[in-house]
Amino acid sequence: MSYSLYLCRFAHGQPSPMDETPIRDVLGPVTVGGMPATGLPEPWDLEAEEGGGAEVYGDALGLTFNRFSPGQILDRVAELARRTGAAVIPLGCPTILTSEADRRHLPESLRAEVIVVAPEALTGRAIQLLISPRPEPRRRPALPQFPYHPNPVATGSVAPSDTPCVCCGQERGWVYTGPVYAADAPDNSICPYCVAFGKAAERYDATFADGIEGDVPEDVVTTILRRTPGFLAWQSPTWLTHCGDGAEFLGLAGAKELEKYPDAVDHLRQRWPDDRFDDFLASLDKDGQPTAYLFRCRVCATHLAYADFT
Ligand SMILES: [Zn+2]
Ligand SMILES: [Zn+2]
Repeated sequence: MSYSLYLCRFAHGQPSPMDETPIRDVLGPVTVGGMPATGLPEPWDLEAEEGGGAEVYGDALGLTFNRFSPGQILDRVAELARRTGAAVIPLGCPTILTSEADRRHLPESLRAEVIVVAPEALTGRAIQLLISPRPEPRRRPALPQFPYHPNPVATGSVAPSDTPCVCCGQERGWVYTGPVYAADAPDNSICPYCVAFGKAAERYDATFADGIEGDVPEDVVTTILRRTPGFLAWQSPTWLTHCGDGAEFLGLAGAKELEKYPDAVDHLRQRWPDDRFDDFLASLDKDGQPTAYLFRCRVCATHLAYADFT
């Protein structure tokens, strides 16, 4: 990994010379070929005992460290910054100062993005942590397609996990968190691939939804019940259908969420037995009870919903 950083002391927005003595003292021991009797070499290489190194350009008005390695070399940079009061300016990162009072001396373009680190805390490691990109969150493989549950991560039925799947034994990066209806259901950790490929349904003779409302072809029933992530519902989760096909599950919805889907509200209203529907609608809560379950027809795109009936 290589970086570039710039070390410079500023006064009133302008570079101001650093003392040459600390530069020679701090960088001399790691300068390849040693320091000349006076002045600074130009440019020069650094090499640390542990094998790290850097290329240095510049002079007392500013030193550029190219291709430096973490460890001892950065410790030297940190020490030099502490002793000279210079700002450490890693390429593309906030400027590191050892005193808030130095901020006003920076050129205006640098003043906004500053990190102040107390001198005693300014170490090579501290610089390293500030300039290293954060460790990337683990990249997880693409999920299988679920035609009847297009985004099971958004609905909470599939979650990131580093636990191996009980069904296939593999660590897939995802786990199914919805219900498993089976006489001998595993406690947890079925991966969504075992759901999609029907392996979990077969192995545990399981379904992931309790039932389907309406008539749809047998292969749709099988896909929804045995190859689609289900969802947790207060009452038994039912899959809605429309236009002769299973609908896609979009997630839980409360009164607020349903405002965007008047077609789903109409659908709910048709199912409601008496004239107090509006009170019921207002009581729906995405995060509480009762809740509505929102679907969309895969054929005509009408939104549909059913709700827990108290
Ligand atoms: Zn699996
Ligand atoms: Zn439809």
